Amino acid sequence: MKTLVVFPNKELLYAASTLGGEVAALVFSQKEAEAVSGKAHKILVAEVDPRLPDAAAEAVAKAAAGYDLVLMPSTKNAKTVGGLAAQKLGVELLVDVLSMRAEGGVLTAERYVFGNKAVATVQVSLPAVVTVAPGRFQGEPPAVQSAVEKLALAPTSRLKIVAVEEKSRGAVRLEEAEIIVSVGRGFKKKEDLQMAFELAKVLGGQVGCSRPIAADLKWLPEEHWVGLSGKKVKPKLYLAIGISGQPQHIAGILDSRIIAAINNDPSAPIFQNADYGVVEDLYKIVPILINKISKLKGG
Ligand SMILES: Cc1cc2nc3c(=O)[nH]c(=O)nc-3n(C[C@H](O)[C@H](O)[C@H](O)COP(=O)(O)OP(=O)(O)OC[C@H]3O[C@@H](n4cnc5c(N)ncnc54)[C@H](O)[C@@H]3O)c2cc1C
Repeated sequence: MKTLVVFPNKELLYAASTLGGEVAALVFSQKEAEAVSGKAHKILVAEVDPRLPDAAAEAVAKAAAGYDLVLMPSTKNAKTVGGLAAQKLGVELLVDVLSMRAEGGVLTAERYVFGNKAVATVQVSLPAVVTVAPGRFQGEPPAVQSAVEKLALAPTSRLKIVAVEEKSRGAVRLEEAEIIVSVGRGFKKKEDLQMAFELAKVLGGQVGCSRPIAADLKWLPEEHWVGLSGKKVKPKLYLAIGISGQPQHIAGILDSRIIAAINNDPSAPIFQNADYGVVEDLYKIVPILINKISKLKGG
């Protein structure tokens, strides 16, 4: 088995090592090469800008010659590059893989389907390009001797970066949060979200939201948005307040250990996915929760 890891990180290098055989890493700078030194048998350095998907895909397609599998992270950029590279190589692309094993020229992998509600086991012939879902391969890649090689490439991008603007990032790290208080359209005004922030504060959690709150009403920045097209979260407690629980929202919260919901409609679909539910007006229950929890915490 020969695996090429692109945009390598610890998880991907470990995932590649579990398949056995040779592991190579494709990196886009000398600095990245140093970071993976001793973790891949071969390190290929492509001197192209990885932000240019066509140039990065060209590099991946060239580097992939002779490899059975190309592994990438499941980031937006890597999926774009992976798709282009798979098309250039004429091989299958499999995204968001949760687990995998290779045998007899076939990769058997598990991945979420139906908005994360089911796990499908799929098989593809190798070679193939695969993106790996985050947090699924936890381990240390074995220490190996690395040989570094430069990948000769002609600059081919039809794109040109004209400006780069840093995305403003707050302190919101929903993917890492252990407690998330999430708000939906049950809140009547933007100012009312303050209640959720207060509750999150007393619980030591962060605030998430449904799509309409971030995308339509723009009451919160996109970094709070949870769901199929937002962030996939896995807190110990996900408290959904005034969220109906449409499949696209549920898709982002299924890995939560406990889901609790507050909704004044007893038939709201969120209750079908919740471990605990309170049928009540959020304007009544949230202030009570803030009060009780701060008292319990000695506030
Ligand atoms: C391609 C696609 C992708 C999508 N991706 C996402 C996504 O990533 N994330 C996401 O969230 N959505 C996503 N959606 C939208 C999704 O389908 C729903 O429209 C959305 O989740 C609904 O948001 P909501 O629950 O806040 O609002 P609503 O569905 O309007 O629900 C509001 C809820 O609040 C309750 N409520 C009202 N007043 C009170 C009160 N006083 N007290 C208590 N409860 C109250 C109501 O009973 C209701 O259940 C996507 C849709 C599409 C088509």
